[in-house]
Amino acid sequence: MKKYIALGAMAFTMIFSISGNKVFAQGDQGVQVLIDEKPVGLVTSRQAAHKALEKFLDFPALNARIDKQEIAFENQVEVKAYKGTGQEVLSEKELYTHLKNLNKKIKVKAKGTWQDQAEKYGLDLKDLLAANEAKLTDPLPEEIFLPTMDIQLKALSKEEVTYQEVVSYQVREVEDENLPQGKREVVQKGQKGQREVKAKVERLNGEKVQHIIESATLLKDPVDEVVHVGTKQGASGSFMVPTQGRLSSPFGPRWGRFHRGIDLACPVGTPVVAADGGTITRARTNAGSYGNYIDVDHGNGYTTRYAHLSQIEVQVGQEVAKGQEIAKSGNTGRSTGPHLHFEVCNGGKLEDPLGHISL
Ligand SMILES: [Zn+2]
Repeated sequence: MKKYIALGAMAFTMIFSISGNKVFAQGDQGVQVLIDEKPVGLVTSRQAAHKALEKFLDFPALNARIDKQEIAFENQVEVKAYKGTGQEVLSEKELYTHLKNLNKKIKVKAKGTWQDQAEKYGLDLKDLLAANEAKLTDPLPEEIFLPTMDIQLKALSKEEVTYQEVVSYQVREVEDENLPQGKREVVQKGQKGQREVKAKVERLNGEKVQHIIESATLLKDPVDEVVHVGTKQGASGSFMVPTQGRLSSPFGPRWGRFHRGIDLACPVGTPVVAADGGTITRARTNAGSYGNYIDVDHGNGYTTRYAHLSQIEVQVGQEVAKGQEIAKSGNTGRSTGPHLHFEVCNGGKLEDPLGHISL
């Protein structure tokens, strides 16, 4: 990792032109930090100033190998010798915190006098007093507000990085007529791949502001996940109303006989649909009292019958989906008016269709 710190030509010169290592608190000379020509704080030594500034440039680690890094302040940063009269200086840590918050109103611990604090932070005394709604004659509280400055210290880091990342796999769906409708079966598990990426990253005060991928090399190919999706029309296990009609006769004993299903009165030619998915096992015409009728085997023990039809639209052996039109209603066979006769049979035993559908 190459880390190149540039403070700007002027600032660079200034930092190393400061002579001596005098401690401000003990003498009359300290070090003043200036951002864009505005004083922002006093410290005891150029080392303290330099360390705080370096800490500002010390961005959090990236989850990548840094091949090249150039980091620089976008502001003009200067560190100058200062002849002061006050006794208060910033610690290295305080300077760092202050540098981060120049454009924010923050509260800090304070001691000495209002003048000491103004000098320490490079502030106009009247600005400091205004920020605290105080008069010069007011005693200095233990904590004071620092006024917002109209400058912000910005450091931009331009980095060339290399990292590895996971490449997700594609899911490929293949229709399978041997699988029931809608059923999914993974026949090949997907495997994630891996790639190496070279990117140019820019970070401002540690926050990523740009990330441009320059190149990517596949290290491991991803493997597609292959999923078979069933298209076989089967039963859903529940029935839908097979035609639009009015219940004209319920299931059960009727006129001394037993009515094997329900009657739904509807005009001749009303579409009739399979109440559930299944296979056509009968499609008969002029078959005695039922007239034209269709039986559907739903493959789960249930069969349904649709009788007195005017038109049959399916063939024996054909698979039908739930809701698929199979016929038109009619008035064939022994029928006293246009209607659909609908039966539900479970394991050879008739059941009341109204126990399965609600009209
Ligand atoms: Zn009937």
